[in-house]
Amino acid sequence: MRVLVVVLLVALASACRPTDLPSGIDAVAHDYVVLALAAGRHDPDFVDAWYGPDDLKARADADTRGPAELREAARALRVYLGTLPVSDEPLDQLRRRYLDRQLGAMVTRLGMVLGEALPFDEETARLYDAVAPQPDIERYERALAEIEALVPGPGPIAERVEAMHRRFVIPPERLATVFGRAIAECRTRTLARIELPEHERFTIEFVTDKPWSGYNWYHGDAYSLIQINTDLPIFIGRAIDLGCHEGYPGHHAYNVLLESELAQGNGWVEFTLYALFSPQSLVAEGSANYGIDIAFPDGEYYAFEEQVLMPLAGLDTAEAVRYRALREALKRLDDAGNAAARRYLDGSFSRADAVEWLVRYTLVSPERAAQRVDFFDKYRGYVINYNLGRDMVRRYIECGADSAPQRWQRFAELLGSPRL
Ligand SMILES: [Zn+2]
Repeated sequence: MRVLVVVLLVALASACRPTDLPSGIDAVAHDYVVLALAAGRHDPDFVDAWYGPDDLKARADADTRGPAELREAARALRVYLGTLPVSDEPLDQLRRRYLDRQLGAMVTRLGMVLGEALPFDEETARLYDAVAPQPDIERYERALAEIEALVPGPGPIAERVEAMHRRFVIPPERLATVFGRAIAECRTRTLARIELPEHERFTIEFVTDKPWSGYNWYHGDAYSLIQINTDLPIFIGRAIDLGCHEGYPGHHAYNVLLESELAQGNGWVEFTLYALFSPQSLVAEGSANYGIDIAFPDGEYYAFEEQVLMPLAGLDTAEAVRYRALREALKRLDDAGNAAARRYLDGSFSRADAVEWLVRYTLVSPERAAQRVDFFDKYRGYVINYNLGRDMVRRYIECGADSAPQRWQRFAELLGSPRL
């Protein structure tokens, strides 16, 4: 019976399609893009980047279906995809898996648009194909004790950490110079290891009133608009971090490679669209954060910051070594925000509780914690992609890659592949 249904579905699908239109998995890819664009009319954050063919946009614009009908269509398309024969080629298998998982996430997100509430872990499992570990309070407490010793003195520890950060704020009038130099270095280091099309380029804008600290808006044709939020003072460490994360070898390099390798190289139209609430974001955010470590390994991060960026920012480097130790220790708290998001979105934390947790376990100021909770409100379980994604990408890259050239090669292959 099942075989018969499959045969009928395939026969029906091929009977309905004139021969000059894409067929098989290419047809699924086209329909996926149209559904994603149509979903974007009901959820303004759904489509993060799009630079595909105009005829697909026209099809989506003419699609008047509501979220419930689009969700049914996504479900049906996923079933149909499962009936298609697939070759043994690893790349073809990865492509099918990509479309399958992206469609699954679309079904879930459209359900959320329709008002369905999911527990935090179920939401992240369905949208990002990943679940963050439970918080390790003992590890956080050990890190807090170590940090306490690095910032001695009276007052709450978070305030002392904030006071240390404030010695390393980039003056607003030097932001453009410092960020320009940082991203140029990230780019040089990346281009030495990964080949990108010659016309790849970006611009940086400084903006305000956003729930994020930086954003990459990919426009296609190898161009990114990178925005940096200046609502709160920007510490020197953000220069390399955002230069790598939003630029090279992070989001900009990832998008450029997806475009040149998969969208143009293979003619795979699904890669002309980036659906934000999807497993692709685990790879995007994870690789963007891991990109900092691969571009500035070992002591190179602090060496470049202290020798080049701090003087450019006009900062006193006398305390730089102590600041370095503090930031290394703070890294051990960098997944503590997941627990705040989980408890807040699952309803066991009020907004005030979430801010308090973030101040206690991530040692940020109340203002920065409040900005973080704004992020939870808008992007929900997306928060896990940054740290869990980084850890997963790190394990994937470093397993079987012992040298820097091997790690870069594996990293470049990941960025230019449909792997989730
Ligand atoms: Zn990002």
